[in-house]
Amino acid sequence: MNTPHDPNCIFCKIIAGQIPSKKVYEDDELFAFHDIAPWAPVHFMIVPKAHIPSMAHVGTEHEALLGRLMVLAPKLAMEQGCRPYPEGGFRIVTNTGAEGGQEVHHLHVHVMGGPRPWLRG
Ligand code: 5GP
Ligand code: ZN
Repeated sequence: MNTPHDPNCIFCKIIAGQIPSKKVYEDDELFAFHDIAPWAPVHFMIVPKAHIPSMAHVGTEHEALLGRLMVLAPKLAMEQGCRPYPEGGFRIVTNTGAEGGQEVHHLHVHVMGGPRPWLRG
């Protein structure tokens, strides 16, 4: 697959291994890694390898990819130490655009969990 890539994008560089990260998961379409500034005891992000700037850019061609991403999230959350539902659980957040609080413009889903209190969220 010819994956769109933005040479100026920090997450594209992380996916390519040009910037180091603590990897959680990788397959041919998805990449997951720990957030450098975690809000919670468990805090990682799942990103498509393709450079999709935000949730405002998705279309029907991304349905399967985003479906896979969302099904992967709870599996990785458990593997990373989130406690089981309903006492445990996790939070999934996708910031979109300036007013949505997005800082890195490569679509990413935050997955946060673990015992509270958290730093944020
Ligand atoms: P946003 O605000 O765009 O939803 O979240 C971007 C996230 O990326 C922030 O939580 C920030 O800590 C994280 N981040 C920014 N730069 C890096 C980096 O170089 N490495 C890692 N692992 N996370 C980063
Ligand atoms: Zn990118």
